[in-house]
Amino acid sequence: CRQLDSSKFMAADLVIQLSSTPKTKPDVFDFGSVFTDHMLTIEWTVTEGWQAPLIKPFENLSLHPACSSLHYGIQLFEGMKAYRGDDDRLRLFRPMLNMNRMSNSAKRACLPAFDQAELLECIRRLVETDQEWVPHSDSAALYIRPTFISTEAGSYFNAEGLSLWADPKYTRAWKGGTGDCKMGGNYACSLLAQYKAVDYGCQQVLWLYGEDHQITEAGTMNIFLHWINEDGEEELATPPLDGIILPGVTRQSILELTRKWGEFKVTESYLTMSQLCSAVEEQRVKEMFGSGTACMICPIGNIVYQGEIS
Ligand code: PMP
Repeated sequence: CRQLDSSKFMAADLVIQLSSTPKTKPDVFDFGSVFTDHMLTIEWTVTEGWQAPLIKPFENLSLHPACSSLHYGIQLFEGMKAYRGDDDRLRLFRPMLNMNRMSNSAKRACLPAFDQAELLECIRRLVETDQEWVPHSDSAALYIRPTFISTEAGSYFNAEGLSLWADPKYTRAWKGGTGDCKMGGNYACSLLAQYKAVDYGCQQVLWLYGEDHQITEAGTMNIFLHWINEDGEEELATPPLDGIILPGVTRQSILELTRKWGEFKVTESYLTMSQLCSAVEEQRVKEMFGSGTACMICPIGNIVYQGEIS
């Protein structure tokens, strides 16, 4: 939704459904193993925006199997505590800092914006509802885990005839990271750049890496350049699997097939934007394309890089 939604939820609309089967509180609390009687949920939908907050008996979530927090890691969380003071009053420790950080995380994850003060008031009401779960102890506290997950099912990228936006400010993967694995977090961190690409009139992101702006992948595809290389040879090149490239099944198949054809040189080698720009200028590029199971082969039409279209 990329924060475009202007709907708001209000703590004043909070509905509280109390549990009819409160649990017995254990004497010893192991972190993360004991849960309170209630939970707060606030739903958001594309069509209706934020719904009224609800405090209800603690229960498991029910999620669509295609929900994007499972597949693309589009989720975030916070961690904060409620303490019981010597005066027996309950206090949250600097909760607006958590609300603020949560709001920033939501912006980066392209999840809907929310009113920080309203959310805090809802959390305050939850703690009030479950106040007996805040330990009567000066060595323990109630840990609160606000969690924001994308439950929308749906496709993420759609690739048909491509214009790419290349800005080194955004990094999909890095050495020592998880870019060579098909893990949700890799996609969550890519989403904002994908929206930026659309703002710049492009369909996908051309992911660059390093000071020399190495070309790594396009959207969620591996990338291939069929060109006349600097030595005047006809070559099909794709970046090597050095930890920041997803080892695509289509990529491997293209490499195996074209090597078998033996019609031109096939290499796994680094390609930089400056090499590509020179090749475009000198008309040495035959074709550039992305590869992936969804689109199979997707030709690239143009690239917006440093304010220029090539
Ligand atoms: N890179 C990324 C980041 C991807 O998500 C995908 C899609 N799985 C690919 C490349 C292409 O991989 P494959 O050919 O296995 O679909």
